[in-house]
Amino acid sequence: MNNGNRILLKNSIISRGTEFSNTVEAIIFDLGNVLIDFDHWIVAQRLTKFTDMKAQEMFALFFNSELIGSFEEGRISPIEFFSKVKETLNLKMDYAEFVCIWEEIFFLTKKNIDVYHLTRKLKNHYKLTLLSNINILHFEYIKKRFPVFDAFHHIVTSFEIGARKPQPLIYQKTLEMLGVSAGNVFYTDDRPELIESARLLGIKGFVFSGVRQLEKDLLGEGIKIN
Ligand SMILES: [Mg+2]
Repeated sequence: MNNGNRILLKNSIISRGTEFSNTVEAIIFDLGNVLIDFDHWIVAQRLTKFTDMKAQEMFALFFNSELIGSFEEGRISPIEFFSKVKETLNLKMDYAEFVCIWEEIFFLTKKNIDVYHLTRKLKNHYKLTLLSNINILHFEYIKKRFPVFDAFHHIVTSFEIGARKPQPLIYQKTLEMLGVSAGNVFYTDDRPELIESARLLGIKGFVFSGVRQLEKDLLGEGIKIN
């Protein structure tokens, strides 16, 4: 067989998807609602004991606000975050009481556990990376309480990078750190707008909707999952 034939044969095998492709080198996972579930509503309800505001009012005022954004980008410290929250929600409580409530929003579901088992298998063959919009308090809390981070070679957090998904900077910094080009990266996240932004950079992005779908998407990219 001459070289030309060999190249032709290799391409045809890959195009039929019958052989695992070497193209993907790194796999990036989102954390929240993929590897661990959370509910901000728990915080709003528990804070009602410390303010005259109603949970719904607090939720509308506070969650998804610029203040949470600043905290997730590491622009303010936990203490600064607390004093601003205290002022905004008119809370009568101290920092320690607040932290206890703020942290306890996470729980594991069967879906999370299935994804975790999948990451353990993928770790043997690919650079496994966790990419999360998260504040330092939640990050430290999860690190202590949940066995999630050990499935990854790299952990990239918004509060350390100083940028949040879907800002291109956080994806660019992640690629730089991994030393891989965008086209060699598979990325999954439950928020479609974050996948959209990564795709604009050339990353192979797939919206996470469940483990079966994820396995299908991985196999579709020639990724070995066993
Ligand atoms: Mg998420």
